[in-house]
Amino acid sequence: MIIPKAEKLQPAELKEVEGIAQEFDCSILEIDGRNRCVYAILGNENHAVMFKRIAGLPYIRKVDMIESSYKLMDRRSGLSDHIVRMGETEVGKDAPFIIGGPCTIDPANPSLYLETAHALKEVGVDALRGGVWKPRTNPYSYQGDNNALDIILQAREETGLPIDVEVMDAEQLQLALEAKVDVLQVGTRNALNYSLLKQIGRMSAETNSAVLLKRGRHMASPDEFIAAAEYIVAEGNPDVMLCPRGTTPALDGYRNHPDESVTPLLKNRTWAPVVVDPSHSVGHADYVLACSLAAIAYGADGLCIESHVDPQRGIGDDPKQAITPQKMGELIQACRSAFPNRYKVG
Ligand code: PEP
Ligand code: MN
Repeated sequence: MIIPKAEKLQPAELKEVEGIAQEFDCSILEIDGRNRCVYAILGNENHAVMFKRIAGLPYIRKVDMIESSYKLMDRRSGLSDHIVRMGETEVGKDAPFIIGGPCTIDPANPSLYLETAHALKEVGVDALRGGVWKPRTNPYSYQGDNNALDIILQAREETGLPIDVEVMDAEQLQLALEAKVDVLQVGTRNALNYSLLKQIGRMSAETNSAVLLKRGRHMASPDEFIAAAEYIVAEGNPDVMLCPRGTTPALDGYRNHPDESVTPLLKNRTWAPVVVDPSHSVGHADYVLACSLAAIAYGADGLCIESHVDPQRGIGDDPKQAITPQKMGELIQACRSAFPNRYKVG
């Protein structure tokens, strides 16, 4: 990882660095963090001479050699001070960053989604979620609908809140990027789909879209989870948030095995914000508050929670696990006031 003295290398400087890397069969990837650029060396980089020559250039601050399978995600990397921003908000800085909204947008009932969006804004949610395309276990269940994208775009327009939409393939990714979706969600089923992760990283590299990467449900080890995020960052998009959402096998009575306890480990090994999803973890509206408080206690920067004005009229997971906007407001206050040394209570 190459860190320049200035915010960015000048074109002639980059050319010189690339020239040295090429002599050793390596190439250079520019990673445009929002504060500054860092440059990853791709290829077999075990060339001490290459490192010394690049490090000796007058405009280079340092060259890090990190022995890790996730050298960009590693908290010792040049991205260690990278901050994921959503509009003006720094994720997790002054308060837990809350993403809320239904599991699934019902295209036959746009007003239910819009009503939910406004009610969530009212109680202090920072971003709206909503499934446009759905990964369903049963192939005959509702699979999603392109029209739902227009509904969540309308909600963004009306509320001014950023939006989070799951994408599962290149076509959906293309549509989401054309719509400038603020957060591209990678669900647990695709969390280890490396071609999709690379494609998302590559296609979102020059955009303002961040990525919420869920943890693979088959108990992806913390390092496997971090390495999956590395795929996205290595293609040029460092705006990644890690989302534990429960793993299998489930704890009897819950939908999955709650895994918010992995948070401090992720935060210790990486610089990325951790946004826990308690809804899919426990899978029942009654347990979402406890799981959210636990996640914040473990140091999570945010929460992604399913919420609906009338969960029983929702589709997908909403009847089981969505909480009402009123409960969401109480949850947000409870999370802030339980940790008064960390957050302003407001
Ligand atoms: C969702 O967020 O509705 C979803 C399908 O999540 P997961 O991938 O965690 O199951
Ligand atoms: Mn869901």
